[in-house]
Amino acid sequence: QVIVENLYKSFPPQGKNQAKEGAPVNVLKAINLEIADGEFMVLVGPSGCGKSTLLRLIAGLETVTGGQIYIGDRRVNDLPPKARDIAMVFQSYALYPHLSVYDNIAFGLRRMPDRENSQTADKLPRWVGDSLRGITKPLPKSLHYLSAQEKVLAQRVSQVAQQLQIDHLLDRLPKQLSGGQKQRVALGRAIARNPQVFLMDEPLSNLDAKLRAETRSQIVQIQRQLGITTIYVTHDQTEAMTMGDRIAVLNQGVIQQIAPPLTLYNQPANRFVGEFIGSPP
Ligand code: ATP
Ligand code: MG
Repeated sequence: QVIVENLYKSFPPQGKNQAKEGAPVNVLKAINLEIADGEFMVLVGPSGCGKSTLLRLIAGLETVTGGQIYIGDRRVNDLPPKARDIAMVFQSYALYPHLSVYDNIAFGLRRMPDRENSQTADKLPRWVGDSLRGITKPLPKSLHYLSAQEKVLAQRVSQVAQQLQIDHLLDRLPKQLSGGQKQRVALGRAIARNPQVFLMDEPLSNLDAKLRAETRSQIVQIQRQLGITTIYVTHDQTEAMTMGDRIAVLNQGVIQQIAPPLTLYNQPANRFVGEFIGSPP
């Protein structure tokens, strides 16, 4: 569950000379948003309306000017991105060029908890998954921690790679992949840690139409399978209408309407929403 409460974001005035005289740029105004556990929320709106900024605030990549952000039952305003239990996928895949597909996916899994925390299975990170989660007794001392972790890690990478149909590419470097394959690796890296919340910012806009449609349904399928609470930014109406459980329409930093796709289409709250979604007049 993600709750955004009366959120404001402004940037300092632009321009070097009259920097102190200009008014700050209010990019987001009084944003209220509640995303239920397992929900796929699509955030749409024209270029510059504040979509990426809202996502970056939730991810912790920008600081909040006013308001609250909750993830699960924690207020996360002051937590760094790493502590927020989120994964983010961007338009540019941002893979590590010198690492293989395997190591790119494994990257986030390699930051190991320290030994003290490793002794009981319920303290293992979420991504370890069901294989160890059922164990509530302390792990046997004889089980060498790192090698056990390495095994679990390899299992997890292969599981994720199968889910995304990239298990035949694990040894390749990013430069040896197509755009669609790269984006799949980026998705794999994001879901490998089994985050509580999945944030995606126009992840498909670099792909051609055919690949976009294919990857679109794959993302929905994976989201359903894993039940990850998801916020997906796009300015593509088709993507919004076909992917979202609900759609939030943003214009000039203000939420215009939040509703399921058909409601939005049939009962747009105002003219802007109607025109943006392409409802019949
Ligand atoms: P697009 O669809 O083009 O990606 P967007 O809806 O994601 O647009 P944002 O990137 O959130 O839009 O930007 C919203 C507004 O905030 C824009 O007017 C942008 O110029 C401004 N803005 C974003 N980041 C900064 C920044 N670091 N400093 C100043 N202004 C910024
Ligand atoms: Mg953007």
